[in-house]
Amino acid sequence: MDFDLIVVGGGPAGMLGAAAAGAQGLKVVLLEKNDRLGKKLSLTGNGRCNVTNCGDFEDYQNHIVNNKKFLYTALHVFDSCSLTGLLRELGLRTRVEDRGRVFPASNSAGDVLKALQKYLEQNRVEVRLRSEVERVLAGNGRVQGVLVRGKGRVSGRSVLLATGGMSYRQTGSTGDGHRMALELGHNITGPFPALVPLVTAESWVKGLQGLSLKDVLAQVGDGKRAIAKRRGDLLFTHFGVSGPVILDLSSFLTREPRFPLDLKVDLLPGLTCPLVEEQLQQLFAENPGKSLKNVLGASTLAPQRLVYVLLGLSGVEGNKQAAQVNRQERGQLARVMKNLALTVLGTRPLNEAIVTSGGIDIREVNPSTLESKIVAGLYFAGEILDTDALTGGYNLQIAFSTGYLSGISAARERSEG
Ligand SMILES: Cc1cc2nc3c(=O)[nH]c(=O)nc-3n(C[C@H](O)[C@H](O)[C@H](O)COP(=O)(O)OP(=O)(O)OC[C@H]3O[C@@H](n4cnc5c(N)ncnc54)[C@H](O)[C@@H]3O)c2cc1C
Repeated sequence: MDFDLIVVGGGPAGMLGAAAAGAQGLKVVLLEKNDRLGKKLSLTGNGRCNVTNCGDFEDYQNHIVNNKKFLYTALHVFDSCSLTGLLRELGLRTRVEDRGRVFPASNSAGDVLKALQKYLEQNRVEVRLRSEVERVLAGNGRVQGVLVRGKGRVSGRSVLLATGGMSYRQTGSTGDGHRMALELGHNITGPFPALVPLVTAESWVKGLQGLSLKDVLAQVGDGKRAIAKRRGDLLFTHFGVSGPVILDLSSFLTREPRFPLDLKVDLLPGLTCPLVEEQLQQLFAENPGKSLKNVLGASTLAPQRLVYVLLGLSGVEGNKQAAQVNRQERGQLARVMKNLALTVLGTRPLNEAIVTSGGIDIREVNPSTLESKIVAGLYFAGEILDTDALTGGYNLQIAFSTGYLSGISAARERSEG
């Protein structure tokens, strides 16, 4: 045997799994097909890397969308405190921002990568770049090694597949691990795009491209019932809507596509409709001679660029003087501001998704060790598994937690075997 553990994929899950196994004394090789480690990690959090979330276990359960129970052990064995503690030992300080989001104090995803590389070095993990694994070799129900394109066979007692999801393919996550697992008899759920922008039908959306709405309440329904509701920032784009609130909503929509769906945006979630009407009345009373469109545009109730849309949808003439706006018109305006309606035609493609929902069927993986129930010595970690979470640092924590658990499980199996 060349190695105790072969880790396929140098993303956060693979790096942590490899180093954790190395720390237990295993001889580990990390095979990465790119010419550098952590290509996707470098893009995270707009280059700042929202590395984890310091919420408690219940908070994690509320933010994991699919197969949260499967992650119980992984998240207990290596939680966000374990991660920030490890990063501190590696010389990286972190800072907590709103909603428990944790970032490196330097605001640099590159520094997170450097810390992980240091962890790999400390634990004598051999890193081989430009090493694309084509196949996992197995016989008699147990892994035997891997085949590296153009470089031949590497033998190993255990193999950890940490090849990521299927989005942002330019970073290396192209679904190779899914294919290799399929060849070994595993089933794959999906894939489905998650944390992905939504495409809408309304033509007025295009004119608002680049406009960001702060702290709105967005709700998606199918005409009969509400499917999901979230609060946060929304961004208009040339095709529809994006921004944290929309990305989070999208994760609840793509497993059973029933498009078109209704999206309702409440621009003022802190106020009831009668209160919005009251505020409009006060605003118009204070500016009686000014035009409605100017008064609204200068107010804090709606951003200037949205005023024309609100006026158009409510059917109120924007050039009339504020003093002339009657009660019925005020009511119409308030209702549109509390209920800006859009039609969701679908999501943007999988490749534009922040994460892939779906992956290795978790029923075929032991949640206590992350070892395959089909092939002994085969482990899975990170986005390749059928788990995904909302924005806020939860997805990276899942990658780190599952990476760690698989690494120490491989070490335990070796010491017992
Ligand atoms: C733009 C963007 C921003 C994000 N921001 C955040 C954030 O701020 N916070 C957060 O929690 N999550 C964020 N995410 C999600 C997070 O980055 C992923 O969930 C995480 O990187 C998954 O880690 P992974 O190790 O499972 O897979 P990946 O990071 O995708 O790594 C997989 C690695 O495997 C390699 N590989 C694939 N096939 C092979 C093969 N055949 N042979 C050898 N190597 C192979 C790939 O090249 C890649 O390096 C973001 C994602 C994107 C796209």
